[in-house]
Amino acid sequence: MRTSTKKAAIKLPTKIRIVCPTCGNDTDFYEVADGVILTTRYTQNEDGSFTPISDDSQVFGEIKFYCNECDEDLTQFHKHFLEMLF
Ligand SMILES: [Zn+2]
Repeated sequence: MRTSTKKAAIKLPTKIRIVCPTCGNDTDFYEVADGVILTTRYTQNEDGSFTPISDDSQVFGEIKFYCNECDEDLTQFHKHFLEMLF
């Protein structure tokens, strides 16, 4: 990957909270995935209506991570975000 050397230089202690370096936000973030294939399974009911059974998503592109307050690109913290996602 193009950012491998950059990522290797960033070492976060496991207990640290992500704080946006631009605006100080440490609560609201969002993730954007490129090249996603969403598959939703449905069952057709007796009356002809449909009910979704399950959602499947596969990400083929890049996943970016942003501050929800100022839209700063925080993708460098994405790995930490995944580790802390429960
Ligand atoms: Zn911010």
